[in-house]
Amino acid sequence: MNLINKERVIIAGGGASGLVAAITAARRGFEVLILEKQDRVGKKILATGNGRCNYTNINISGYNFYGKNREIIENVVKEFPPERIVGFFKELGIQEYIDNTGKIYPNSLQSSSILDVLRLECRYLGVKEICTSEVKEIIKKNDSFIIKTTDKTYTCDKVIAAFGGRASPQLCSSGSGYPILESLGHSVNHIFPGLVQLKLDSNYLKRISGIKVEGNITAYSDGTEIKKDSGEILFTNYGISGPPILQLSRHCVDSIEKNRDVVISLDIFPKYEKNELFALIENRFVKMKYKTIRESFIGLIHKTLVDVVLMEAGIKDKDLPGTKFRTKEIYRIVNVLKDWKFKVLGPYYWEHAQVTAGGIDTRDIHPSTMESKLIKGLYIIGEIMDVDGDCGGYNLHWAWSTGYAAGRSL
Ligand SMILES: Cc1cc2nc3c(=O)[nH]c(=O)nc-3n(C[C@H](O)[C@H](O)[C@H](O)COP(=O)(O)OP(=O)(O)OC[C@H]3O[C@@H](n4cnc5c(N)ncnc54)[C@H](O)[C@@H]3O)c2cc1C
Repeated sequence: MNLINKERVIIAGGGASGLVAAITAARRGFEVLILEKQDRVGKKILATGNGRCNYTNINISGYNFYGKNREIIENVVKEFPPERIVGFFKELGIQEYIDNTGKIYPNSLQSSSILDVLRLECRYLGVKEICTSEVKEIIKKNDSFIIKTTDKTYTCDKVIAAFGGRASPQLCSSGSGYPILESLGHSVNHIFPGLVQLKLDSNYLKRISGIKVEGNITAYSDGTEIKKDSGEILFTNYGISGPPILQLSRHCVDSIEKNRDVVISLDIFPKYEKNELFALIENRFVKMKYKTIRESFIGLIHKTLVDVVLMEAGIKDKDLPGTKFRTKEIYRIVNVLKDWKFKVLGPYYWEHAQVTAGGIDTRDIHPSTMESKLIKGLYIIGEIMDVDGDCGGYNLHWAWSTGYAAGRSL
């Protein structure tokens, strides 16, 4: 349906959510202007999915999203299943590529394809963009809005706030939208970095920095399990990184911010039960009785990890033959390999976070139109809302979905 509508809409922020909102609004006949702080729109999209843009996922459910208000999450997820997002992009020319975990990318495996089709569609629809234009203030005056930027003032009938969050400020999201919306009466639930590497308390980090292991990882808060994941883990000089770490991070950081004691446990031999691993190690000691305990681990674990694992297990003399060690010492080694505990100190920097947890309290946002319940004609979309998703296409899914919902509801 193509409605002719002379109403003027300003979209504050030309990121993922803002571009989709612009397209949807323009298709309905609105006159749309995007005000973007950076020198071009959609810069962050280019960095997503390691330059490939994991734009949604075949498995989307409310469980993949976090935030204080479940109603809006359930509503958006129900209204925007992955096929709807895939369909939206297909119409723009994006053929989907689904990997074996369910992550969806453009078939070109280029995030620039996603940005290109969004920009082209905006151009065909006559959406105007003004870049290098930072929105400083939004004022509601009678039935219209006054938008003040660094150098100009605009008026419009409706505003869509698509400022993004605070994660990765070097890619444009400085968190400038929060005070603007606060000044309009919206409250901000405490924000913290999500999908981020973790800083650990450990004396070994410098030695093992750069080592990758495949394993299971479990996070505990005050001794209670809060989240599990598995995959490739990378030790760094500050702590730990890798996809499963990003996945756990918001749960760890949330607990730390609540002053809880957070510990992660690594199982770097996930395919072996403890007794099987015990037998494997004991057998190696017997078979290679001429080797020191240190030498007998070569080929079983990364060479740099050998000394660290043995130290952690309390083995002091690493030059003794493996056969000199008893059951309890082998068990201590098994315990390190299957349940290596690290205290989590906190998130790595905002610059490294992929998403912002917390944000504008969504109880003040209408769950299907994204219109503010406090200010008529103001719509709030994307990462600035108190909703964040797992790693795997969920955050962009949220951005596109809420952008679409706002654009069609104006
Ligand atoms: C490195 C990286 C990789 C990622 N990879 C993925 C992925 O593969 N899959 C996935 O689902 N998610 C991914 N994400 C998360 C995803 O990119 C974001 O959640 C999503 O872009 C949020 O969309 P948004 O429109 O709310 O905000 P943004 O995309 O951040 O857009 C906000 C826009 O508003 C502009 N802006 C901000 N303040 C102002 C102002 N005052 N005035 C004017 N303009 C302003 C910004 O410059 C920006 O262009 C990744 C994030 C990062 C950092």
